[in-house]
Amino acid sequence: MSAAAAGFPDPGTPEDRVIAGQGTTAAQWRAWMGWPGLQAATVDELVPAGHRLVVVAPHPDDEVLGSGGLLAGTAHAGREQLLVAVTDGQGSHPGSLRWPEKELGAQRRRETAAALRVLGAEACTVVRIGIDDGSIAAARAELADALAAVVRPADVVVSPWRFDGHPDHEAVGQTAAAVIAQVNGASHLEAPIWAWHWAVPGDRRMPWQRAAVLHLGPFLAWRKGGAARCFTSQLEPDPSTGADAILPPSVVARLVHSREVFFR
Ligand SMILES: [Zn+2]
Repeated sequence: MSAAAAGFPDPGTPEDRVIAGQGTTAAQWRAWMGWPGLQAATVDELVPAGHRLVVVAPHPDDEVLGSGGLLAGTAHAGREQLLVAVTDGQGSHPGSLRWPEKELGAQRRRETAAALRVLGAEACTVVRIGIDDGSIAAARAELADALAAVVRPADVVVSPWRFDGHPDHEAVGQTAAAVIAQVNGASHLEAPIWAWHWAVPGDRRMPWQRAAVLHLGPFLAWRKGGAARCFTSQLEPDPSTGADAILPPSVVARLVHSREVFFR
């Protein structure tokens, strides 16, 4: 799907949203003059009392990188929480002797559990769908059925932005949007994650007019930073293949800072 959804600017084609090279830096995003023009929102406004937060994560770490602050904030506020883990992220180290797929999947499940504890969200229920990492687009029907089985009215569902650039993320964002549209009273918050890499400040392909900015403050930012450090398999280079870390410090800096953005 490359056409813009209603109310969204034209995001271009998937070829326009390629994750390559170093991408836009954290410093470039920080220096953007457009931030004060975006609408701010509090945890209570995003997930009001009586509503459940549902986070749909394509891979273990997306729940923290996209919405760790919101997870920590809603846990602190006593909201019910559900994490839907679409894959176990077992495809992040192809050909690795350090991380064969099966062990990597188990490791990444443990990393998510540790991160939820750091966020203060250990009471969050976790549902695992078990779709193959990298193959979500081919499993949209399975994902849609799984989401339809858990999403209830009054849920606030966070997924990656439907045009986030990573094929797995786009498949999850688009499928979540379609499912949520069928559930009366459920709402959708779309978190850019890889978009921070390929987009530039003020990028016309991003729906800034729909943005809600959650300013984390020291408490939530500290919890999010600690949670991000739990994903050790993603933070370390792989000597068995010579591959760099999936999340080197420059990428973590772009994602873990004082604000989270959701398109709604
Ligand atoms: Zn991901």
